[in-house]
Amino acid sequence: MKRDLDFDVVIVGGGPVGAALAAALATTEATRGLAIALIEPQPISMPEPGAPLGLRVSALSHASRALVARVGAWARVSARGACAYERMMVWDASTESDSVDALTFDAGSLGVADLGCIVENAALNCALLEVAVAAGVLLLTSAVTELNLSNEVAHVRCGERRLKASLVIAADGVDSPIRALAGFAGQGAAYAQEAVVAHLVTTKPHGAVARQRFLHTGPLALLPLADGRVSLVWSTTPSEARRLLAMTPAEFGGAVSEASDTALGALTLASERARFALRHFQADRYMTTRCVLVGDAAHSVHPLAGQGVNLGLLDVEALCRHIGTACASGEDIGDARGLGRYGRERRAANVLMGTALDLIARLSATDGLWSRRLGRFALGFVNRVSPIKHALAQRALGL
Ligand SMILES: Cc1cc2nc3c(=O)[nH]c(=O)nc-3n(C[C@H](O)[C@H](O)[C@H](O)COP(=O)(O)OP(=O)(O)OC[C@H]3O[C@@H](n4cnc5c(N)ncnc54)[C@H](O)[C@@H]3O)c2cc1C
Repeated sequence: MKRDLDFDVVIVGGGPVGAALAAALATTEATRGLAIALIEPQPISMPEPGAPLGLRVSALSHASRALVARVGAWARVSARGACAYERMMVWDASTESDSVDALTFDAGSLGVADLGCIVENAALNCALLEVAVAAGVLLLTSAVTELNLSNEVAHVRCGERRLKASLVIAADGVDSPIRALAGFAGQGAAYAQEAVVAHLVTTKPHGAVARQRFLHTGPLALLPLADGRVSLVWSTTPSEARRLLAMTPAEFGGAVSEASDTALGALTLASERARFALRHFQADRYMTTRCVLVGDAAHSVHPLAGQGVNLGLLDVEALCRHIGTACASGEDIGDARGLGRYGRERRAANVLMGTALDLIARLSATDGLWSRRLGRFALGFVNRVSPIKHALAQRALGL
């Protein structure tokens, strides 16, 4: 057995949230002196220049993009193609996309240049990791299998190594092994929906508009990509998801065109297809002695509003600020009081967003006349009442 390696912070999980946290801590004035290790079992590499955009993309809010830019990773992300979207249209299956009951957000009317941008997950993840490593974070390609927490110190084991830390941060995703090892409880359930994702070529230009149509089986989103294609996220019943993946490419393109009300004309499949199980989850608390949760390890939401990574990056901002305050005042960064402030602040915000998204996901997928009428009325109502619409837009921008 090798001797213990000693760190201030050990981050478990190098997905977008863990990588962003490592990059933020290592490049922020108040925290850059900390010794940080990041443990991630999967090799994460930048896609080859010129390779088509990967299947997994994310809608980043203004707040998320600002964080990525501040740590110095934005140039690498945008070099792979980032599509800023200037308009968002949300409509119900019983209406047309240009009906008065459709909900629309325009960057111009909100006084911003765009509403967010669609980026490639692999590029985002890798660019953040590169910044972290260049700023001195030790990246270990391994999986954590053991965790021991005491009032004085935390220990994690990965492979043959044992790491000692003042604080262990779980950024290891919705099935977080660290969350289980540390004994955190939580509430959640699987949705009776899966998300089918693919990229498609359209006959009408996407016009930098993010579109979402609520069908009675779940929402279908078409997000604009920098290469002119659109990225599909179609949340539907598991049996329908299986059926969609078993279709021929031509049948699949036809099904998406029809389900999106031919808003972008005829669609042609232009990538592989994949489906993802969807889950709603909230940890009961985000901190315990010398251990905190961030990102999907703490909360997982329905992808209908593209908020998962964005909420995780808001966790990163808050945790980085609380650790910075502890460093500046010479306090122990694993101290329960400072971590408690982070936990309360972020849990309150994430519960609010998670509950709202859960309600929309469940209501919109109810195949009843009244719930469909209610959903249609709600979209039209929000569209006509400026203060509610403005407040929603501010949240979506992450402001
Ligand atoms: C179809 C779909 C579309 C989505 N679209 C959007 C969108 O547009 N915008 C948005 O904001 N969000 C979106 N999301 C949500 C988003 O993908 C997640 O919120 C995000 O990936 C969470 O990031 P994370 O870093 O917390 O966790 P993850 O991405 O799950 O990363 C966790 C990491 O931990 C590692 N790990 C696991 N176990 C261990 C261990 N024992 N030791 C060490 N490491 C470990 C894993 O290898 C992984 O790399 C979408 C989700 C889905 C399913």
